Amino acid sequence: MSDCIFCKIVNGDIPAAKVYENEHVVAFLDISQVTKGHTLVIPKIHKENLFELDPEMARDVFESVPEIANALKKAFNPIGLNLINNNGEHAGQTVFHYHMHLIPRYGKGDGLG
Ligand code: 5GP
Ligand code: ZN
Repeated sequence: MSDCIFCKIVNGDIPAAKVYENEHVVAFLDISQVTKGHTLVIPKIHKENLFELDPEMARDVFESVPEIANALKKAFNPIGLNLINNNGEHAGQTVFHYHMHLIPRYGKGDGLG
């Protein structure tokens, strides 16, 4: 989709701090870091959200998550990590290209309670 910001990241039309990439997915740091290392993982093919995702794409995305989580663990040394996915405006989705948030957690000091 030509006006989708995440498709532009996939295509290299706008820059992003990529932390992982394979044939199916790309992961990059969120522009607005909720905690240090806050990362988004997206399929390279544009799908609006979970309701549009077919099982194969869901598998491709989720398959990449442990490796990305471990890369974040190695780089930032968090003590935990939240995996979050918002689907639909009323569920907090603001970018309508499917993505999962990986949010490293650092304990009481990380500001998320
Ligand atoms: P949502 O609210 O849809 O679950 O999350 C969208 C996320 O995309 C937000 O956390 C927001 O900071 C992030 N985001 C929006 N535009 C950009 C961008 O151009 N680059 C990057 N790296 N992240 C973005
Ligand atoms: Zn897109």
